[in-house]
Amino acid sequence: MGGTKTDVPLMVDGKRNDGRTADQMRNIKIEAGVLDRADGSAYVELGKTHAIAAVYGPKECHPRRVMNPAKGVLKVRYSMLPFSVSDRKRPGPDRRSREIAKVTREAFESVILLDKYPRSAIEIDINILQADAGTRVTGLTAASVALADAGIQMKDLVSSCAAGKIADTVVLDLDGLEDNCGQADVPVATTGKDNKITLMQMDGLMTKAELQQAMKYAIQGCSTIHKAQQDALRRRYK
Ligand code: ADP
Repeated sequence: MGGTKTDVPLMVDGKRNDGRTADQMRNIKIEAGVLDRADGSAYVELGKTHAIAAVYGPKECHPRRVMNPAKGVLKVRYSMLPFSVSDRKRPGPDRRSREIAKVTREAFESVILLDKYPRSAIEIDINILQADAGTRVTGLTAASVALADAGIQMKDLVSSCAAGKIADTVVLDLDGLEDNCGQADVPVATTGKDNKITLMQMDGLMTKAELQQAMKYAIQGCSTIHKAQQDALRRRYK
């Protein structure tokens, strides 16, 4: 985000550069249980953004000093692989990946029944295989399916999607070009049953009315994602 100039018009006659309308999401593909060696896993594609999430646990908590005798400890790692972006990304944690891991952990902490797992740790490992905007929401969506696949007790699935503003228009689910050259990006995560918001961030500028519209779109997007997550889990356990 940051309003980088582009020669490609972001919106022409109500259509976006990839032909979508303002309220249209990219194609979603979700597959649960893709890794044998993790306790739970999921692969998610949101357009050209591809993520894989693995869950390990509940297991013994290391180091011991972070163990909580009353409830489980949730650990999240988010990584963008070196080949996930056009210029090779240097491997290893950086400020951005730590921030995304933190907001992802916070998005799950009120949903996972951590008091069922005293003295234990649950680890979520999110890897972005290909990045074209919306990596945090795609990673979060994958992590939620991986947690369910691992049998971790949760109040609900968490579903995540972003909305934003490009060419003075509020739109659902920005792609890479729109994220780079647009005006605002609002990633959101909700719980499926009661639409409680467990993540909301905003990058860029919007009026109050635009933000309300963006939230409406993002919540609709989360509901579409929620159905795709449920379908993936049904296919896995049918
Ligand atoms: P999100 O991926 O959740 O939208 P950001 O807004 O931080 O998070 O990033 C937007 C997009 O910018 C990413 O999806 C990716 O396409 C691109 N991007 C982020 N970090 C890098 C990087 N180090 N190198 C190249 N592109 C990047």
